[in-house]
Amino acid sequence: MVVRNKAARPRVGVFKFASCDGCQLTLLNCEDELLLLAGKIDIVHFPEGASPARPDGPFDLAIVEGSVSTPEQLREVRHIRSRSRVLVTLGACASSGGIQALRNFANHDEFRKAVYARPEYIASLATSTPVSHHVPVDFELRGCPIDKNQLLELISAYLRGRSPAIKNESVCFECKRRGTVCVVVADNTPCLGPVTHAGCGAICPAFRRGCYGCFGPREAAATESLAAHMKNIGKSEQEILRSFRLFTAGAPAFEDESRRHE
Ligand code: SF4
Ligand code: SF4
Repeated sequence: MVVRNKAARPRVGVFKFASCDGCQLTLLNCEDELLLLAGKIDIVHFPEGASPARPDGPFDLAIVEGSVSTPEQLREVRHIRSRSRVLVTLGACASSGGIQALRNFANHDEFRKAVYARPEYIASLATSTPVSHHVPVDFELRGCPIDKNQLLELISAYLRGRSPAIKNESVCFECKRRGTVCVVVADNTPCLGPVTHAGCGAICPAFRRGCYGCFGPREAAATESLAAHMKNIGKSEQEILRSFRLFTAGAPAFEDESRRHE
């Protein structure tokens, strides 16, 4: 990440595109740390937390939630990038297009007609895409929603001018660390943990459920091997397709794997 001037309180803007607001709420949910944070950064734009007049920047740090889903958002993300020294994204929508990226696999106009009485008034793009498809992104924080501790680590790293200590490891590592019995081994339950980026603390396997990949693919995710295993335990092509085509359907590794099962 870009090294900042540590003498001044950095001007921070929090922005939202197509999303449910859950990742921004994670920032507000930092209850114990929020006052401390407020003393270290100057949040000049955060509609979810207040309703200030929208400043035009410049921003030292732009925190962006949501996917690019409308022509207006496309213009806005480019403008925000041009007014920000560092830009990080929060969550599955901003890093992979979110659940709304399911339309990337279908006919956008048919969807619009089915959902809206007057589709001609709806200005939306045919695809929902991650912020990084349109502008350079300095760091993508994963999750649906993101994990509070990872968010605090990201902001702390920014304030100290170092890289965030967020490892590219799979959910399986978190399972092992918390001593959770593997649901694949114990119950033959399908689980995307081996190919999914860590960060949630392996919540789902702790409740005897398979991971459904809401943190998106880790780097070098061996999706083909996992799909072969799913087939071996009796899952149909359609079930395998649906496993990879969910909250992070637009992430290239999961998109490619789901297309192999169409
Ligand atoms: S339950 Fe899933 S995430 Fe946990 S170790 Fe098994 S395969 Fe990995
Ligand atoms: S275990 Fe998987 S699906 Fe469950 S919260 Fe973690 S990353 Fe998301």
